[in-house]
Amino acid sequence: MKWHVLGSASGLTVPNRFHSAYLMENKGAFLLIDAGDGVSYALARQKQSPLAIEAVLISHTHPDHVAGLPLLLQFMMMSGRKTPLNIFLPAFYKDFFFEQLYRFYIFPEKWPFPIRVNVLKKSLTFWDSLNVTLFPTHHLAGVAETARHHGVETESYGFQFQTEEGVFVFTSDIQSVEAISPYIQTANWLLIEGAHTSPDEICQFAADRNIPHVRITHVPPELEQQENALKELAMEYGLKDLKITFDGEIIEW
Ligand SMILES: [Zn+2]
Repeated sequence: MKWHVLGSASGLTVPNRFHSAYLMENKGAFLLIDAGDGVSYALARQKQSPLAIEAVLISHTHPDHVAGLPLLLQFMMMSGRKTPLNIFLPAFYKDFFFEQLYRFYIFPEKWPFPIRVNVLKKSLTFWDSLNVTLFPTHHLAGVAETARHHGVETESYGFQFQTEEGVFVFTSDIQSVEAISPYIQTANWLLIEGAHTSPDEICQFAADRNIPHVRITHVPPELEQQENALKELAMEYGLKDLKITFDGEIIEW
């Protein structure tokens, strides 16, 4: 399996990183994880075809994780796609997503390829060999009351990918390291976000679980400036492969 980083920016738009988007690859077949604003351009820049994406998984509905989805459907259509696309998203968002599509003049019954919208399930399997388990990240706990007032649920997930060879964890956005601690026992690879965490917490979390390979994503500019200090900190914790990721990094796991 290969993990491609398409977009590793935090919620802040910056010139050197796209918003949240990643590809999981299995021998030329792809899953897209998150579709933040700009995802189509990120795919085009990395010369990735929108035709090879079999399914899209959305961790939560902040714009930097989902706003690129309608244009991605247009990109696929204009690239000549005919094969079905499965989209997995938080349950409460499904009806609104269709309403949004209609207003973008994207009518599924007239679209040149089937758009299959599914609700995220606790566990999903792809290619018979990749098991995906969801865990709650409590990222949206702070806005739960206001969201409820507007009739909106707060759903936010991280994903654990498992094959016979290993475990790859992508936290997406989290409320805190403690919030996800109960759900992650160990992993070969951890892709953790750096906008709602501190380098110390990340190092402690990875060291406690003997996770050999760690990448930090959702990178705020201030973290980028601390790259050298981060390297030293990782060595103190005995973590030999902990780095800030970048758009274009490909991880083989
Ligand atoms: Zn978010």
